[in-house]
Amino acid sequence: MSKRASAILFLLAAGSTLLPGPALTATPGQARLENIRYYSYPEYTRVVIDLSREIRISEKVLRGGEGGRLFFDLKDCRFALNYPRERMNEIRIAAGNLQRIRIGKFQTQTIRVVFDFDRIGKYNRFYLTSPFRIVFDIYRQDEFVSHARQQASDDPPPATAKVPGEGVPPGTAGGGTPSIARQLGLGVHRIVIDPGHGGKDPGTVNRALGLKEKDVTLDIGKRLNAILNEHKDLEVILTRPRDEYVPLEERAAIANSNHGDVFISIHTNSAPRLSARGVESYYLNMTTDPRAMEVAAQENAMSTKSMADMRTILDQILRNSKISESRIFSQCLQGSMVANLRSKYDAIEDLGVKKAPFYVLLGAQMPSALVEVSFLSHAAEARRLGTPEYRQAVAAGLYLGIIHFIQSLGK
Ligand SMILES: [Zn+2]
Repeated sequence: MSKRASAILFLLAAGSTLLPGPALTATPGQARLENIRYYSYPEYTRVVIDLSREIRISEKVLRGGEGGRLFFDLKDCRFALNYPRERMNEIRIAAGNLQRIRIGKFQTQTIRVVFDFDRIGKYNRFYLTSPFRIVFDIYRQDEFVSHARQQASDDPPPATAKVPGEGVPPGTAGGGTPSIARQLGLGVHRIVIDPGHGGKDPGTVNRALGLKEKDVTLDIGKRLNAILNEHKDLEVILTRPRDEYVPLEERAAIANSNHGDVFISIHTNSAPRLSARGVESYYLNMTTDPRAMEVAAQENAMSTKSMADMRTILDQILRNSKISESRIFSQCLQGSMVANLRSKYDAIEDLGVKKAPFYVLLGAQMPSALVEVSFLSHAAEARRLGTPEYRQAVAAGLYLGIIHFIQSLGK
């Protein structure tokens, strides 16, 4: 880790946050602790604390002794009725240098949370909203990486997910390392499909036609799943197999914990300019293109201001992302989607491959892309998106793009 990266982490840990202060107004009444979840990545462990309303914390770090601990108080807070009972007192983690999380009533109105470490190192704390969450990314100490056993999250994976295997996946040691697929020379096996939005988050909506993005993306995802399932040697994982809400940061985590080889997030576009139409594909990176920034802000459900604050976090994570492979993956998807749609439909505009900071792609440890398969805000494109034929043509185009990418790996 560079000196600069350490400095950024220190600043973040010292209290700088993702979101600007004024956007978060305190709600009266007690907060409820809904859940504490964690995801273990090869390089860091992410702990997510779900709360019913905003609570700002100031954590304290105690070094020395048995390896160190970090603790903080959730003031004016109680357990939600549906808080998982088995996580009421202690959550055993034993991933990297974080051993366990202990939770307890500190005073009548306060819940104290304690992280126990083998050895405390760098970490990064930030807040997310809608719903409000406190997130800790706890980085592994170098000396632990070599012998730390890869451990899956204790959250049950989604219905169609496979249980992750033993062993640390290769290709995770840094930006310059070849991907799993390339290293093994076996091509891509496990494809993670992420139908955008779901449940309480409908995505963009075309009211005239009564069409919701979440329904279109789920149908296209299922169609793509069905096509891919005809290949014996390909395995598919859907981040959501039904109409349900899955937070953005969990989607890449599902791909990581299931050791996906590629990750594709499916969306439909929308623009204030109603004549905007076409197909575009994105990979994760910073951008100066205002239109790309708007698309990302919309998909991230964040203001562009908050997105600018995201930069420090991105700088950190981009170092370990598969940017060049994700660009190639996006190009394969875009090219095949456009070609397949043009073989059946007229006026398919190719908006090309772009980069933007999509929160859903953040932390994905495999080549990843977000596709905007047409505009729900464009009358004619929305009518097409409402038909099974068009959705099938999109799915077939994505399938051809995945195959194209697999073939490109063999060259
Ligand atoms: Zn979307």
